[in-house]
Amino acid sequence: MFSKVRLIKWNIRFVILIGLVILLLVPSLTFAYNLWGKTWLDVDPLYYYFDSWPGYKTKSAFTAAKSDWNAASTPVNFQWSASYDIYCYEWYDSGTGMSGFTSHDTYEIYIFGASCGLNMYWTDDYDLNWRKSVAGHELGHALGLLHVSGAKLMNGYDTTRCETYGVFTPQADDINGVNAMYG
Ligand SMILES: [Zn+2]
Repeated sequence: MFSKVRLIKWNIRFVILIGLVILLLVPSLTFAYNLWGKTWLDVDPLYYYFDSWPGYKTKSAFTAAKSDWNAASTPVNFQWSASYDIYCYEWYDSGTGMSGFTSHDTYEIYIFGASCGLNMYWTDDYDLNWRKSVAGHELGHALGLLHVSGAKLMNGYDTTRCETYGVFTPQADDINGVNAMYG
């Protein structure tokens, strides 16, 4: 009888162990990249532009962010042009928690234009890493990525993304999401 009880105990321990392993694995599966469902027809090149209005902080953030995306292994190739696909700007609004905002021009399932803005109420006090993280996040939205949890550029919370996780550039999951759309 003793050995049977011990066997049951070991079985219970085994079940608990398997349960823990599943709990550890599931979040990384559940919170994988999240696609909006609308895409650009062509992302090589994808022209971005900011006019003379934004300050150097916003300009340098978008310049660094597009370089980070271009360095990632995806077909996306951001290039500067005054005849642009994506208009980058800054605005000031103390009445929102949003540090950035992206809107799209779409037709059916296709994106044919986007605007990405940084809210200077928040980003003016950020350092370049935090600002480029917001700019890169917004460019991710422009490409068709939605929010996710965890240590990813598409995490929508600046403090969580930048301070907790130290994420300032596209991560593997963000890159996988872009390649799922354009790869
Ligand atoms: Zn967002």
